[in-house]
Amino acid sequence: ARRAPDVLIIGAGAAGLMAAFTAARRGRRVVVLDHAPEVGRKILISGGGRCNFTNLDMRPERFISQNRHFARSALSRYKPAQFLELLAAHNIPWHEKKLGQLFCDHSARDIVQMLLAECAAAHVTILTDVRITDVKKPLDFHVETSAGTFTSKALVLATGGLSIPKLGATSFSYTIARSFGLPVISPEPALVPLVFGQAQESWVQTLAGVSLPVRASCGKVGFDEALLFTHRGLSGPALLQISSYWQPGEPVRINLLPGEDLNALLAGLKKAKGQMKGPAALSRWLPQRLAQELARQGAPEDRPVVEWPDRTLRALADRVHRLDLHPTGTEGFAKAEVTRGGVDTHALSSKTMEANTVPNLYVIGEAADVTGWLGGYNFHWAWASGHAAGEALGAS
Ligand code: FAD
Repeated sequence: ARRAPDVLIIGAGAAGLMAAFTAARRGRRVVVLDHAPEVGRKILISGGGRCNFTNLDMRPERFISQNRHFARSALSRYKPAQFLELLAAHNIPWHEKKLGQLFCDHSARDIVQMLLAECAAAHVTILTDVRITDVKKPLDFHVETSAGTFTSKALVLATGGLSIPKLGATSFSYTIARSFGLPVISPEPALVPLVFGQAQESWVQTLAGVSLPVRASCGKVGFDEALLFTHRGLSGPALLQISSYWQPGEPVRINLLPGEDLNALLAGLKKAKGQMKGPAALSRWLPQRLAQELARQGAPEDRPVVEWPDRTLRALADRVHRLDLHPTGTEGFAKAEVTRGGVDTHALSSKTMEANTVPNLYVIGEAADVTGWLGGYNFHWAWASGHAAGEALGAS
């Protein structure tokens, strides 16, 4: 069987479905193919099952790409308010959790059903359980699949990144992009817990379960959020955010008591003739187990604060405010929320997502080298890039 839509989209995830109904509403015949048995599986598991679908505080600086300003154009033409209009039209209730992060009141399934309803209304054909075996472009695109051969004028690569392989993540978009001569920035796990293997930092694992608000930074970038100690290393929103910027070999700096001056606090205790010892003193401001560990590392054993030399106060404060840790790696794609890297955006039009050197080939969503912060930014990139491509396909 040979079928010939105007637009063939590979990947029925967030970006692919958005592009599909956007182009189809503009009169294009659109077919979407996915190898999974159901569409939008990452949407369904996202945000703890409630999908953090966008963020009210949308700014291009919150996206990472080798091509720094690439996301700006698509983001400026598809705003969080536009996605909220779509939700309103489908009577989907939502709420803001914190930091502008918007979640469904009921379930992420509402988002998938909305995308499917929009696709159905625009007569998009969606085929699941389809394996793609070959892509060629003699003139139009020829796509060989387990459901027959499809030919189309335009092909959209929307198969996402490599995170969560057990949900069927593949490098399909990267492979096809490369076969058409587009460069790919090495895909790496991002928004991912960091692990510690160095003997001198093995104490980090002993604190598994401890969580506290910190400022985590890497180079010039810093995040004020919660940190969570785990059995393998560090996680929590502050660390997940930093992981997207971290490069192997670099230290991660953690301020365990942001907004305070521990040296001044300890000096106050000393002046008041504090009789408490290290763990008790530090646990005034830090979780108990962490206080114990830091006291073990830096406070004089068995001596009350009043007897501590000033340089001990300073050294302890310095460690608490500027703890440099040396991750040995990440927990990998199995635990990563997204993939950093992907099809090099220098090779794409920021207006349309079309490849500069291959007319009618588009790359959208996470498959492209655009990675958002934690907090709804990655879905918003999927919506915005899918919308940009869909509009361009509808106009061509
Ligand atoms: P996807 O949504 O991943 O869709 C890709 C589609 O392509 C899939 O349907 C897949 O089956 C299909 N596919 C893959 N390979 C092939 C192939 N070879 N042949 C055919 N089809 C193929 N982001 C947020 O903004 N907010 C959140 O709350 C959030 N929570 C997350 C929670 C988890 C656990 C994870 C893993 C991610 C989360 N993300 C979140 C990130 C977000 O899910 C992704 O950035 C987003 O889904 C990317 O959209 P996409 O359309 O590019 O790719």
